[in-house]
Amino acid sequence: MNILKRTLKITIMDAEMTLEKEGKIDHLNGLGLEKTNSVLLSTKTLVQHITSETLFHEIMHVFGLKHCNENSCLMNKEVKNDSFLCGKCEKELEKGIVKEMKNRLQSSV
Ligand SMILES: [Zn+2]
Ligand SMILES: [Zn+2]
Repeated sequence: MNILKRTLKITIMDAEMTLEKEGKIDHLNGLGLEKTNSVLLSTKTLVQHITSETLFHEIMHVFGLKHCNENSCLMNKEVKNDSFLCGKCEKELEKGIVKEMKNRLQSSV
């Protein structure tokens, strides 16, 4: 899938999003799915903090970025206001884009 030509499906749901993991219920603010190019956001869990950071975080998942341990990084599991991608994640994103561009050039020859 060419990430430069993706159409993102962004769905904002009025339902709670939960994920059961090892018997523990996790409340999700959003979900970004790389395979289906879709971003799901829940207004129930986001009521107080629907932020552009959360949206970008989920979009970055669609672009293949994983969670990052860097505290101030946008890809940290806990999305903070005014956070940006850390250097490592920025490189990952660049790598993904460069790879897609190369694939695209090769397939058009
Ligand atoms: Zn995430
Ligand atoms: Zn990071």
